[in-house]
Amino acid sequence: MSKQIVIIGGGAAGLMAGIQAARQGASVTILERNEVPGKKLLSTGNGRCNLTNLALDVSAYRGEDPAFAAQVLRQFSVTQTLEFFHHAGLMTTDREGWVYPRSMQAASVLRVLTEEAVRLKIKLKTRASVKSLLPENGGWRILTNGWEYRADAVIVTGGSRASGQEGTEELLLSLSSLGHRVIHPFPALVPLRCEGKHRWSGVRIHGRVILHTDSAPARTEEGEIQLTDYGVSGIPVFQLSRFAVEALQRGDSPELELDFLPELPEEAFASWIREQKGRYPEKNLQTILNGCLPEKLAALIAGQKDPVHGAKCFRVKIAGSLPFSAAQVCGGGIACSGLHPETLESRLCPGLYFAGEIMDVDGPCGGYNLQWAWSSGAIAGLAASADKGEAL
Ligand SMILES: Cc1cc2nc3c(=O)[nH]c(=O)nc-3n(C[C@H](O)[C@H](O)[C@H](O)COP(=O)(O)OP(=O)(O)OC[C@H]3O[C@@H](n4cnc5c(N)ncnc54)[C@H](O)[C@@H]3O)c2cc1C
Repeated sequence: MSKQIVIIGGGAAGLMAGIQAARQGASVTILERNEVPGKKLLSTGNGRCNLTNLALDVSAYRGEDPAFAAQVLRQFSVTQTLEFFHHAGLMTTDREGWVYPRSMQAASVLRVLTEEAVRLKIKLKTRASVKSLLPENGGWRILTNGWEYRADAVIVTGGSRASGQEGTEELLLSLSSLGHRVIHPFPALVPLRCEGKHRWSGVRIHGRVILHTDSAPARTEEGEIQLTDYGVSGIPVFQLSRFAVEALQRGDSPELELDFLPELPEEAFASWIREQKGRYPEKNLQTILNGCLPEKLAALIAGQKDPVHGAKCFRVKIAGSLPFSAAQVCGGGIACSGLHPETLESRLCPGLYFAGEIMDVDGPCGGYNLQWAWSSGAIAGLAASADKGEAL
């Protein structure tokens, strides 16, 4: 008889795990609490789904044990992921290495996954919210809001609370009662709240952001900064946000230094202002700054004690982050020390596997988090469907 596998969560990792397991001949059931699978996938990359990255650096993942993530990613690589999607009928394109579906629609990615799941006769139970799972007679008993299922192996791919998703907390509770250590989840890839009010809301500007904390080296990112009524957002801020949130949790007082003209050294900027003043003595500083900065920012910088330094090194204290609902991913989750990196099987509960964001692994923007879902999902699906003792 084929191996019965239940997958908890029909997101990116769950669909990949299910497809890999079903291709090995397992009988797969996916339990998904939403009314449809892959809801989060549809909102990725602003609806375009940045599914991986051609220049993926496996050492860029974060968590208690980044080497664990690197080991998993080497077992199912970006190349294998692209082969998988191309074979399944998805044409892809890249923008400076960030890979998207050629259609530029996340729905295309979800469609090839669900069509493959249907072709492989994977049973997809929606509105099935898993409340707990219990080991029973060498297998598993899985309790949902309205039913109970039995399985030889379970793969947990419940994701995280990021973007306001529900259901993960009860899973983490059930998994911790089985002995798994849970690292308290926190928002990562999230906008940051700053102390003080600045009249800069709505400004978008290419700039450099440097994170200063009391107890870690400074980190720098560059890209489009979005200035908001609560603080700062945009990709460079997202990239630094995990480290800012961690610093706050440690009791540090993190600050951001914003450089609104990163291409121009401070002296060159000062001499440009002097030149303009000389040429147009009737212009005030704000009018001159309107020539190089968005209006709201020009007004703010003109009011600084040292405007040149203000434009190049504008310091803001970080007060916190926006909540989980505004985050793209979470830090924390199931500690990797409790799992075998070759199979993603629990060291504590044989027959229990993990994949995706529910684990304590998160990556920067640029397709890293979906690549983690694809790689870990594939490894867990292949391992769970293999007979014990059979090499992958
Ligand atoms: C707005 C946004 C944009 C993003 N853009 C990108 C991007 O462009 N590129 C990138 O790499 N990453 C991106 N991410 C991150 C990426 O979407 C996630 O890392 C990825 O979806 C995680 O996959 P997963 O399968 O682990 O979790 P999910 O995709 O979250 O799937 C988990 C599933 O489990 C279900 N579930 C939870 N609890 C239960 C339960 N108790 N019972 C049954 N089902 C349950 C959930 O309903 C969900 O469907 C983005 C995230 C957001 C929010």
